[in-house]
Amino acid sequence: MTIGASDLKRMFDAIAVAIEADRDRLCQLDGVIGDADHGIAMALGFNAVRDALASLDLAATEPTGLLNTAAKSFLNAVGASSGPLYATAFMRAAAAVKGKAELADSDVVALFQAMAQGIRDRGKAETGEKTMVDAWQPAAEAAGASNAAGKSLAESLQAALAAAERGAEATKDMIAAKGRSSRLGERSLGHMDPGAASAVTVIGAMQKSLA
Ligand code: ADP
Ligand code: MG
Repeated sequence: MTIGASDLKRMFDAIAVAIEADRDRLCQLDGVIGDADHGIAMALGFNAVRDALASLDLAATEPTGLLNTAAKSFLNAVGASSGPLYATAFMRAAAAVKGKAELADSDVVALFQAMAQGIRDRGKAETGEKTMVDAWQPAAEAAGASNAAGKSLAESLQAALAAAERGAEATKDMIAAKGRSSRLGERSLGHMDPGAASAVTVIGAMQKSLA
């Protein structure tokens, strides 16, 4: 089975629903170590993506074009730091599947890994700095390892989700070194990073939708 533009649109719709349902919790998490807007930012972004994709002619759109549309609409809708981070993720995903009308399992894993790399490059954060990278990076590594071991896409995304959950949990024991919450220093200890928490929600929706 392959993944095409309409599957990716369904995936973005699923992410928008999951983020909307998680919006208050994400704002609460951001309220503890940030400015309490993370749920609003993510919901604005993914609702804008959903609206933009709804007006695409899917029969005439390749995955690359769809992902670039997602990038542009997310960036335009979100003023917070998550805006350029996810926009870069989608732009890199678009580049990773350029020229392909249908994506095989390994293409989707490459798309997923490109998202994580885009977030790292844009934010210049490494793991351990208490950001969404602490969920995305281990998730991308787990998906890659699972795919290389010959597992199905469903299994690889399941492995990614489990790794993202562990990574987000681990941010509780980290001192923020990037972004707004880095101003708190040691006072950021003991709290989950909101961007890592929303990454789990995004990856969970991707897993459910694409599996
Ligand atoms: P803002 O901090 O501008 O209000 P959001 O609340 O939408 O933006 O997002 C905050 C999240 O963004 C943080 O929890 C963190 O995960 C992520 N973040 C912030 N700076 C960076 C960075 N340089 N690299 C990766 N992720 C980052
Ligand atoms: Mg914020």
